[in-house]
Amino acid sequence: MKKSGTAKAGSKRRPKIQMCCDRILTGMEKIKAMEAAFKESSENRPPEHKPSRRRFGASSMSAPPKMALEAGKKWADGRTLGVYFMDGSATQKVRVKEQAIKWSTFANIKFDFAASKANAQIRISFVADDGSWSYIGTDCLGIARARPTMNFGWLKDDTDATEYERVVVHEFGHALGAIHEHQNPKGGIEWNLPAVYAYFAGPPNFWSKEETDVNVISKYSVDQLNASKFDPYSIMLYHFDAALIKGGKPTKFNTKMSTGDKRFIKKQYP
Ligand SMILES: [Zn+2]
Repeated sequence: MKKSGTAKAGSKRRPKIQMCCDRILTGMEKIKAMEAAFKESSENRPPEHKPSRRRFGASSMSAPPKMALEAGKKWADGRTLGVYFMDGSATQKVRVKEQAIKWSTFANIKFDFAASKANAQIRISFVADDGSWSYIGTDCLGIARARPTMNFGWLKDDTDATEYERVVVHEFGHALGAIHEHQNPKGGIEWNLPAVYAYFAGPPNFWSKEETDVNVISKYSVDQLNASKFDPYSIMLYHFDAALIKGGKPTKFNTKMSTGDKRFIKKQYP
């Protein structure tokens, strides 16, 4: 990982981007999650059922926060979310915890790492598969209790601190409802499509065109989101090589919560 050089197709020095995959609910999970989301917060109801159309993060802000959060998947403000480790070493657990709680400095959300499995909204594995991912916000409530809602497939006891911060803060951002910044409809990324499909079809992702569409190319529609301006420093933005982007400027390699992320999550959970 770390800084990548120029990635020419076929180059042996091509950097490995460890990207998290979007988690998509099945039909039944979706129904369960939607009912739970409405119960969680009245803000999760679609606008026509709300007394006012004004929504957090919408264009009504005078000083717009950045980053994007999927509407309808927010936790109740002031919530304590139970977190349960389904596996993992003591070291892995401690290292995840110390990164995750960084969100609580800015969001009115707390994490209870002593929660039992039955009371945990967030269930973490390190071995479900070799990827890192999390369900988005209240989508976690649609997942059967026996299954993890978050996975850290490449974080080991001896993984370096920067990588723990980059990955754990990012996945807990998803757990609070944040989506990938490169899919923010107000984002400025214009893809070099053939290069993007070729890149993600190779190792370590081996994605089909459809998987690359879902995880990289497609953007959310503006009404799906509480979004503001694209934030090039967001922890929810992955590093993309210059070769994948028209105009040839890479995205930054962000490893920490940005000022925009902090401001945004504070607006979402005041
Ligand atoms: Zn992600």
